[in-house]
Amino acid sequence: MMLNFLLRSLCAALLFHSVNVSAQSLAFTFDDGPQLDKTPLLSPQERNQALLNALGTNGVSAALFVTVANGANQPEGMLLAKAWGQAGHAVGNHTMTHIDLNNSGVSLTQYQKEILDCDEIIRKLPGYQKWFRYTYLREGNTLEKRDGMRSFLKNHGYRNAYVSLDTSDWRLNEKLIETLEKNPHADLGPIRAAYLAHIRQRAIAYRELSQKLQGRDISQVMLLHHNLINALWLNDLIVMFKDMGWKIISPQQAFADPVYQLMPERQSAGQSLLLSMARSLGMGKFDGWECLVDDGDFEIESLGKLGY
Ligand SMILES: [Zn+2]
Repeated sequence: MMLNFLLRSLCAALLFHSVNVSAQSLAFTFDDGPQLDKTPLLSPQERNQALLNALGTNGVSAALFVTVANGANQPEGMLLAKAWGQAGHAVGNHTMTHIDLNNSGVSLTQYQKEILDCDEIIRKLPGYQKWFRYTYLREGNTLEKRDGMRSFLKNHGYRNAYVSLDTSDWRLNEKLIETLEKNPHADLGPIRAAYLAHIRQRAIAYRELSQKLQGRDISQVMLLHHNLINALWLNDLIVMFKDMGWKIISPQQAFADPVYQLMPERQSAGQSLLLSMARSLGMGKFDGWECLVDDGDFEIESLGKLGY
């Protein structure tokens, strides 16, 4: 409890410390889509359309990273993925079944086959890019896997579609669904507020980390998911970033930042490129690192106190 309070005070202090007038740029990316799972609100088609509407209304060009088994293995899922490309968004590869390369039971060959099989399916889609997003943002539990994947991507002309701004939107999405399953009429206001506050805190903390590591504001690439919480409140999130003075750019523009050519020696345990860079420099535990790896615990606990 006390520790959480201290951590949060530290996060808040960092937040105030990092007020900066220059424009920070940011690209939006969505993993694990399209999702055909049932959710307590909105059909899969409505969720997909809500995401596309929020992006379209705000003139945002984003990227969808397809995990085939979540829906693109069925005609109705392919239609949802296709709608992203038709709306001008990029479509990238996020494996067939979302296996974890850090799992000792998953071989390099098996992981690469998942990428090639996914490629077979998505290459026909409009917006297709040779971009690969690692599942769980993990590059493998051995050097053989890490380096094997690095040469595989290079040989196949794939970009490692890094994430610099990692969020735990998935955790708040779980809380949202659990809340709606208990009570379909629950007041969702506090969950919406927690979602926006969480992403704002991560954004500011990763900006601070980029200034610390690179001496500048890098073009940030944010990770979100193709899920209900973003379908409900993505528009509010985009408006929040605009109000913060952040400039929204396309993933193509963001990946042109040379920081995305780096290959950190040491990996973080499945988080942002910036955290991997910090670890490679022997700065695994810099001021405020706790704010970036807590999986949204603070917001979940705060919601718990409100009875959620
Ligand atoms: Zn994923």
